[in-house]
Amino acid sequence: MALLIDGKQISQTVVDEVAVDAKRFKQRYGFTPGLAVVLVGEDPASQVYVRNKVKRANEIGLKSVEHVLPVNCTQETLVALIKTLNADATVHGILVQLPLPDHLNEDAVIEVILPEKDVDGFHPLNVGALACAKASLIPCTPLGCMLMLKHVLGNLSGKNAVVVGRSNIVGKPMAALLLQENCTVTVVHSRTKNIEAICSQADILVVAIGRCECVKSNWVKPGATVIDVGINAIVREGRRKLVGDVDFVNVEPVAAAITPVPGGVGPMTIACLMKNTLTAAYALEAKSESAVKDS
Ligand code: NDP
Repeated sequence: MALLIDGKQISQTVVDEVAVDAKRFKQRYGFTPGLAVVLVGEDPASQVYVRNKVKRANEIGLKSVEHVLPVNCTQETLVALIKTLNADATVHGILVQLPLPDHLNEDAVIEVILPEKDVDGFHPLNVGALACAKASLIPCTPLGCMLMLKHVLGNLSGKNAVVVGRSNIVGKPMAALLLQENCTVTVVHSRTKNIEAICSQADILVVAIGRCECVKSNWVKPGATVIDVGINAIVREGRRKLVGDVDFVNVEPVAAAITPVPGGVGPMTIACLMKNTLTAAYALEAKSESAVKDS
């Protein structure tokens, strides 16, 4: 039987550390680190994600504020809000909930966010910094996956890692992080030939494709560590449930360790958002202290 990688438990350790750090921050600077979460429209899944992020942040001692804009808001209105948040010294992290409605230009919106406040790590400057192994704000989901992998495996050096999916949000930053840890990394995607054969060589298999239970047991090397990022809502036997991109029931007996869905990567993503907010807050305050000294 595989070890179940408990994202709830590991994320609690991260959250506890952030809560202690947030207290220290307040003692040192006299105010609470601030996280602004921007939601455009009324997509029910996005509303739940945003509500959870804001609630969790406030629970652990950050000051999180939700900014909701109507679904038909213009690019100019959204950009103006972000510029206001960029200039607000009480806001250290800005997150725009994606996806945005089709009429809005997502890339242009992300580029307006001050890179130092880009707690999602999606700004091109942060993406470039990650590629050069110099990033401090790393996309939350891959960061959470790395924390889980290190928790389970310790040193990752020399391992064969395969990342299934090449999105900017998960697959690509995941590959960059595994490379930084000296893994030998292969990225596969929808056009890859012999995908099962490539995956079945992996010591570490990270799957982020958004296809319900697509990865079968013959894709998985016996003894592999499997991280399932996918979240797919399905109805089975008349009941709504969430399942991953990995066929958990059949892969679990083959793997050495595997994340469940739900309760795996999901809680880590939120915990890493909190961690990034603290990182951003300390960096911004250190920058403004040194600016005062220099003036
Ligand atoms: P995207 O749709 O942006 O990217 C999916 C990637 O998977 C693409 O690179 C695509 O290839 C590839 N792909 C699709 N089908 C296949 C296939 N059959 N075989 C191999 N590769 C395939 O998705 P995201 O990366 O944003 O998200 C992936 C999943 O992770 C989703 O279920 C999402 O809900 C979940 N997610 C979960 C998070 C969490 O906190 N747990 C956070 C973020 C996402 P190509 O590029 O060729 O099209």
